[in-house]
Amino acid sequence: MGLTKIKVSRMCFGVLTVGPLQANLPVKEGSAVIRYALENGVNFMDTAQYYKTYPYIRQALKGYQGDVVIASKSYDYTREAMAASVEEARAETGRDVIDIFLMHEQESMLTIKGHWEAYEYLLECKQRGIIKAAGISTHNVAGVRDAALVPEIDVIHAIYNKDGIGINDGTIEDMRFALSNAAAAGKGIYGMKPLGGGNLLGKTEDAFTFVLDNKDLHSIAVGMKTIEEVDMNIALFSGNQVDDVTRAKVKSVPRRLLIDSWCIGCGSCADRCSAGAIRIIDGKAEVDQLICRLCGYCGPVCKEFCIKII
Ligand code: SF4
Ligand code: SF4
Repeated sequence: MGLTKIKVSRMCFGVLTVGPLQANLPVKEGSAVIRYALENGVNFMDTAQYYKTYPYIRQALKGYQGDVVIASKSYDYTREAMAASVEEARAETGRDVIDIFLMHEQESMLTIKGHWEAYEYLLECKQRGIIKAAGISTHNVAGVRDAALVPEIDVIHAIYNKDGIGINDGTIEDMRFALSNAAAAGKGIYGMKPLGGGNLLGKTEDAFTFVLDNKDLHSIAVGMKTIEEVDMNIALFSGNQVDDVTRAKVKSVPRRLLIDSWCIGCGSCADRCSAGAIRIIDGKAEVDQLICRLCGYCGPVCKEFCIKII
């Protein structure tokens, strides 16, 4: 990854999906899916303090002898809080070293500078050897553009998918340009949301082709919750055919629309849904799962990136 000397598989396991904020699988079940991915060539896992998924990682790694790279992140902006977050990650994953630690969702140089006290703590952790690389995650073109200018930032984790779903401040072309400059500056880069939070599930192959074509992305985090999804995604990342049985099993996985808690109740999704599945109740969007046909049309209109199909 860039100048970090960290070597990662092109596919990164996005651990959020198995955890309590999304599929909420029992730890035994979710960790088994992660372990299966590790045993089949995925050496990189992305999580965050906010996701509450450290127990899944700890369980998945029990007795595992292979090389693993773990990235986590935190919203903390003070030195003390960041110190507590790093210790929480080490204690709960059972790892002395967290390979990559990021400041979560930085929007631009303003937030990077505003949170610098916390970032300086991460740099101290690097010196002490308890993290190997530090950086930011971002949904913003400005976040990538500005992080590329900061020598102390090693890694950028940026949203990137073919329809630009979830980019706060520009187009996918703007993001591609910013990532290209960041890669040229030696940053390690991994993408997030290649399927636009599940909204591109019906076009998985095109969506993966799009992100895999961008060689500035050293890895791409994909959320998965079943063994069959791992099989299918590894095949697609490897340029192999997916057999019909696996494809059918992935298609049969029950899915639902998830509206994240930070919904601001603007109503754009309700206006877009011709099925009438979304209503705004007490200032928040609520979906009627019995009416929702999982078409994915509402996801791209949500400027807050609240709508996922999981
Ligand atoms: S578009 Fe997004 S923020 Fe607006 S009501 Fe729907 S889910 Fe909430
Ligand atoms: S996925 Fe389709 S049917 Fe379901 S709420 Fe969104 S627009 Fe409506």
